[in-house]
Amino acid sequence: MTQPVAIHGHFYQPPRENPFTGEVPREKGAEPYHDYNEKIAVECYQPNALAGNLDRISFNIGPTLIGWLDRHDHKTYRRIQEADRVHRQTHGVGNAIAQPVHHTILPLARRRDKITQIKWGIASFRHRYGRQPRGMWLPEMAVDLITLEILSRRGLSFTILSEEQVQGEVHGNAGPYRVRLPGGGFFAVFVRDRHVSNQLSFATDQITAGRQWLADQVQGRQGLMLIATDGETFGHHQRRGVQLLTDMLRDEAGSPYQLVTLADYLRTHPPVREIEISERTAWSCSHHLGRWDRGCGCTPGDHSWKPVLRSTLDLLADEIDAIYLYELRRLFSNPWLLVDQYIDVVLGVADMNTLIREATSAKLTTGQSLRIGKLVQAQLHRQRMFTSCGWFFEKLNRPEPRYVIAQAMRAIQLVKQATGTDLGPDFREALCAAKCGRARTGLLAPGHTAAMLYDEIEAANQLVLS
Ligand SMILES: [Zn+2]
Repeated sequence: MTQPVAIHGHFYQPPRENPFTGEVPREKGAEPYHDYNEKIAVECYQPNALAGNLDRISFNIGPTLIGWLDRHDHKTYRRIQEADRVHRQTHGVGNAIAQPVHHTILPLARRRDKITQIKWGIASFRHRYGRQPRGMWLPEMAVDLITLEILSRRGLSFTILSEEQVQGEVHGNAGPYRVRLPGGGFFAVFVRDRHVSNQLSFATDQITAGRQWLADQVQGRQGLMLIATDGETFGHHQRRGVQLLTDMLRDEAGSPYQLVTLADYLRTHPPVREIEISERTAWSCSHHLGRWDRGCGCTPGDHSWKPVLRSTLDLLADEIDAIYLYELRRLFSNPWLLVDQYIDVVLGVADMNTLIREATSAKLTTGQSLRIGKLVQAQLHRQRMFTSCGWFFEKLNRPEPRYVIAQAMRAIQLVKQATGTDLGPDFREALCAAKCGRARTGLLAPGHTAAMLYDEIEAANQLVLS
């Protein structure tokens, strides 16, 4: 009897572009490539796509990453689109699933931000794959019931969690299971096998042949086994990853396992058994999301900068929103709808002026339209401030915290240009409380603060800021 196995790859890179120029800076360590996007594209995205590996696994590609591939590695981009299209033709459902656009830890986000991120994720997916998504990957698998409820209301049917995030009789069986929603109804959850997934991700050197290893893992199994891991495992984190994956995906008579994809399996195996989720948990932090707000043992050393950075950005978001609503409520019956639709401008399929014109019956002057456009654009950068990567690592002085601060500064600049209100000085002052800990690295030393990052970003972009 063959055992069903699904492999899901979460392909994602921290965004890197400078919000003032739109350019990705040259990155140390990526040599001989210009930056890590280029390096990882060559090591992972290209070889996996070209080997046909994306045809047979279930996958999601971060919307910011797939946008980069569209612009910089169009051949790989087209091959990825083809993988989903051919799967859809063969099985009636695609094998790609969606992702919130900015990899936000949704349980830490306000309800309004959850909705925007999920709507933007769906719109981005439709743009890339030409169809409605059925499933959505949650950034870091961070989950709460409100998030699942919003996914369900937006027409999505399933997500993936890790076995330590659920309560119920699971025993290595990926399900899918039913999770009861607070507003009524159920949402489907696939549960990944943590041990097997981690073995593939972190102990690859102990695996000699992919196919034999996978055959060993399914021995004595009941139901679906799900391996879910970072897609970059296959070629970037693990150099042998592409070869191992290709080997696992080979068609062979007499195999003890049968490869399936999630949407296809859900279609033929609607969930019956119910489980509960552990709210405010994630696959990469066992401290109730401490990694992305208060700090926790996931990152060693002094993590006191984390809660300060988060609360400073939360406060800034409140102020940006208050200005946004004050300026737009007089003219638009639903100011947030304009933000939700703005993703089409980012994707290049709509133009800002048309969007504004269609969202209000008021007759706007050119100057008014321009100012409103800037406030809506500020909302994009305000969303990017919460990219989870900003808090993922130990050090404040890394590109990721710098990225979220730069996004905040770009939002501040746009609000100032639109209204004359300068939120910069208060924001900078609040950043003084985010102190750099541990040993000296780069420009920041112990005792230095995030305000110095602010100053560096300001100096580096002086021409554009002025
Ligand atoms: Zn943690």
